[in-house]
Amino acid sequence: LVVTELKKHFKLNKNSTLKAVDGISFTIKRGETLGLVGESGCGKSTVGRTITQIYEPSSGQILFANEVVHSKRGKQEQKKKKRNMQMIFQDPYSSLNPRMTVMEIISEGLVIHSAELSLKEREVKVNELLELVGLNKKHSQRYPHEFSGGQRQRIGIARALAVEPEFIVADEPIAALDVSIQAQIVNLLKKLQKEKELTFLFIAHDLSMVKYISDRIAVMYLGKIVELTKSETLYEK
Ligand code: ADP
Ligand code: ADP
Repeated sequence: LVVTELKKHFKLNKNSTLKAVDGISFTIKRGETLGLVGESGCGKSTVGRTITQIYEPSSGQILFANEVVHSKRGKQEQKKKKRNMQMIFQDPYSSLNPRMTVMEIISEGLVIHSAELSLKEREVKVNELLELVGLNKKHSQRYPHEFSGGQRQRIGIARALAVEPEFIVADEPIAALDVSIQAQIVNLLKKLQKEKELTFLFIAHDLSMVKYISDRIAVMYLGKIVELTKSETLYEK
């Protein structure tokens, strides 16, 4: 992933524009995990959402696998990109549709991106994904409210992985969870990152877990990256 001079400005009203992301550049190598930290409101989520095309950039360029990622392109190509880049959200309570079963939630992306799979094949795949994230097929007919926060985040992770993305943004994936299960989720993400050779952007407001999971860390402040360094050297200055 190569991000060059990325800007995302929100027009708040006639006279004021919020420069949420204001000209940032960084690269993430294939299979690398970059931690993105900074205080609340500094623009981290906006970076993640712009890269994964939830938001359209105001200016700048995002390249992934040597192709330009931009939301104003042909539908087909955009679909491909979206499959390639998935997001894991902070709040497993609000990011899972409460009216859908776990089977429906996880297979939704497969229906769109792997239309060639039969219903049976999709079910087999979902059951494999549930195993992968530490749940099992007995869970597949249940609804999100029947699960704990940690289990819901596991479902969110399975949903992101279903379409076999190469790049994942995890936006504060443990911030809404009990301290007691935060480490389990971080360990799961780290294991999956290795196994699937994922390229990872890991967003958090503090350094505690990020140091452990990331190869390098970028520190944001007021829409800009103010520091970018190897995790282990962050304190050695
Ligand atoms: P962080 O993830 O670091 O907490 P965000 O990227 O969520 O920061 O937000 C950065 C700034 O952009 C904040 O001031 C936030 O209120 C604002 N912002 C985020 N999304 C939007 C939006 N869709 N419309 C307007 N302002 C937004
Ligand atoms: P996060 O915890 O990821 O920073 P928030 O709870 O701040 O998310 O924001 C929730 C949603 O509202 C996000 O989609 C964010 O982009 C959007 N948002 C944040 N600030 C604003 C704002 N000032 N105006 C409009 N939307 C916003």
